[in-house]
Amino acid sequence: MVFLVRLFDTLTRESALLEPVDGKTFRFYCCGPTVYGPAHIGNFRTFVMQDVLRRALELGGMKTKHVRNITDVDDKTIRDSVAAGRSLEEFTAQWRDKFHDDCEGLNCLKPHLEPSAVAHVAEQIAMIEDLVEKGHAYASDDGSVYFKISSFSDYGRLSRLETRELNLGHTQNERANSDEYDKDHAADFVLWKSRREEDGENFWESPWGQGRPGWHLECSAMILKYLGKTFDLHGGGEDLVFPHHENELAQSRCSCGGEFARHWFHAAHLLVDGKKMSKSSGTLYTLSDLAEEGWSAMEVRYVLIGSNYRKQLNFTKDSLHAAREALSKLARAASGQKVVGYRELCKGGDLGVFAGAMEKLNEDLNTAGALGELFGNLKRASSEADWRGFFTTLASLGLILPEPEKVEVPTEVEELARLRWEAREAKDWAASDRYRDELAQKGWEVKDGREGYEVLPR
Ligand code: AMP
Ligand code: ZN
Repeated sequence: MVFLVRLFDTLTRESALLEPVDGKTFRFYCCGPTVYGPAHIGNFRTFVMQDVLRRALELGGMKTKHVRNITDVDDKTIRDSVAAGRSLEEFTAQWRDKFHDDCEGLNCLKPHLEPSAVAHVAEQIAMIEDLVEKGHAYASDDGSVYFKISSFSDYGRLSRLETRELNLGHTQNERANSDEYDKDHAADFVLWKSRREEDGENFWESPWGQGRPGWHLECSAMILKYLGKTFDLHGGGEDLVFPHHENELAQSRCSCGGEFARHWFHAAHLLVDGKKMSKSSGTLYTLSDLAEEGWSAMEVRYVLIGSNYRKQLNFTKDSLHAAREALSKLARAASGQKVVGYRELCKGGDLGVFAGAMEKLNEDLNTAGALGELFGNLKRASSEADWRGFFTTLASLGLILPEPEKVEVPTEVEELARLRWEAREAKDWAASDRYRDELAQKGWEVKDGREGYEVLPR
């Protein structure tokens, strides 16, 4: 039995049922990190949401193939490696490793393939040659090669350029040479950048002379190699819709002729204190920054999934406090239950009182709704199916619960609990209820088992 996920598609602006085009494996590609420094929690909001999507698909019974690249050559990696006096390879490797450590801390599943741009320069050159041959790209006098946006009639469809008061006819002779350029400026974009002095030793030979590929090209080339002309879904943060994904789409459709991505999945940005994160105002957080303040990666993950991915998320320290409390509450509730492993859960089964949580998640990845269902039904969980449902929901959100902390129970509370137990044993239900209410007023509750009882904070 397969439970399908419905997701909002950036291209059609409608929700779509996610099914593999080949009828077997759901194949998707996510733009990976640019490894010139540690990834920040904004980046991780996007990566964690992609991870939740994969988990929801797999726990729904679907097989997936997840490809995520490493951007290890672009303007920023070259600039900073040259400034650091280190080779590009050595410089980017340290940040790639740090990214992997952070992903592990956040419990993100490893992609099935993680190709790097530097390892695929030949494939990128081949795609440029193809585009030049087909009349979609041209070389400039300095040995750079540009994509001609006027040669692709669908250019701008993904990002709805026409609604942004841009006149493509006026801009088609303009060129953008930097990897990232003005978000509202459509221009012929660079596929191959001729060698410049500031690139140092970072250049490759090509039919147009020495240089390096432009940033947008790597994903198109690696997607063709690992997923083919048509694949199921492409993801990234909302900033990638234009120009990066618009450009990828143009290159790939013009070169390969397939449909390219059947669906597009974009996560809205994370803000800090209501503003864009920035280093200068001290609001750019990495996992290490937060770990120094005593926050675990799992607490950060909880905050990142706390609201719908299509809404911007405002990150605050208060939200971390709330995450800590929520995780402890879940841990207390699940204490003593046998944890079921991810692969086992993927085999499916009755989800008991938590079936609603997975329904929420499968409807446009409503992570907040799924958490609401999880807490809302905690008290009802009793059967084996209920606990399977509980762990399936946790697994789909990628949450790992902390060890439940030892709670200090005040003596008067212990005494009330003991009196209640004795009243119960004596079948004096009225007295037992009275003690229970008194305990509740003091913020405690009692969980009865076969062997005895346990006193817990409410
Ligand atoms: P980069 O390392 O800059 O290539 O970005 C890696 C991923 O993080 C991309 O999918 C970006 O769209 C995404 N991203 C960048 N900034 C944010 C943010 N503030 N919130 C959410 N995602 C972001
Ligand atoms: Zn990309």
